[in-house]
Amino acid sequence: MKKNIEAKMMSLGSSRESAEAFVAGHWQTLMNANTQRGFQQRWVDLQNSEWGRNLRFMNYLKGEWIPCAQRWAHCYTNRVFHIGNTSTNRVESAHSSLQKWLASSTHKIDTLFLRYHTSIEGKVTELRKDLEDSRLKVFKLADGPPYGHLNMEVSLWAIELLMKERAREIVQRCGCRLHETHGLPCKCKMDALSDAGMELHPHHLHRFWSSLVYESPPDGAKWEDHDATERGIFAAMVEDVYRQGPAAVRKASQLLLPHIRPQVAGLLEPRESEAPKGRPPKRSNTRDPSWFEHERTRTAKRSKTNENTRKTHKTTPAG
Ligand SMILES: [Zn+2]
Repeated sequence: MKKNIEAKMMSLGSSRESAEAFVAGHWQTLMNANTQRGFQQRWVDLQNSEWGRNLRFMNYLKGEWIPCAQRWAHCYTNRVFHIGNTSTNRVESAHSSLQKWLASSTHKIDTLFLRYHTSIEGKVTELRKDLEDSRLKVFKLADGPPYGHLNMEVSLWAIELLMKERAREIVQRCGCRLHETHGLPCKCKMDALSDAGMELHPHHLHRFWSSLVYESPPDGAKWEDHDATERGIFAAMVEDVYRQGPAAVRKASQLLLPHIRPQVAGLLEPRESEAPKGRPPKRSNTRDPSWFEHERTRTAKRSKTNENTRKTHKTTPAG
């Protein structure tokens, strides 16, 4: 959303800096309004600000973003149980990681399926690792009242959120945002518990936070058992060979024999030498010349000798 607004502003003639400043300033303030009344007030303020004079931009905001404010303004989204998922970022990052795995837009169906499956398996492993961390690691900062009972029972991320919430200052009223959006006790509820001399227990949190076991989908095993698929393919091939008769069976067993029983097929591992030659006595890089090298040096020598003899022949009569 922010990138869309920035792009629109730049297409309407604003500089990149002023577009970023608008999004981080006025737009962020509008988004963060806690109540609907506050949201309306901030929207009026925005229209009365210097940005309000840019009519084409205001029409864009009125036409594109204000009608769907319920999807992005915090005063609306904070009334929904969303566990922190307020944007499509995660879907987009999953999509881009899948694209990296596929590496190309054209694939055969079998390689495509395998790569897709591998990328999902990678994600599942990451998920399992995070869940195991929450089950096995003791969060040292929270190893005492009021969080002590939560360690190894709920997600580490939930404990972090609770610690942040507890450190928050209540200005007028709590707002109970964390309770409504994440199913976690908000500041006022934690204060009430501590006033009553009670500590936090997993049942004070939504069930989501204490579900630390990854369960495979019901048909997961079917996809995960590669061995069974390969055995099935092989059994079907054996059936085909039987159907083709004794000659085909003989040929197939001849082909398979060296792989299954190499000792019978006469293919043995090379025996280790008892008296190895070892390195040559002189550490030298020279070698015997090959035939053509030998021949070249020989002819060169011969022609040199001929030349010398010719010279002596020429000089002798004159002398
Ligand atoms: Zn509250």
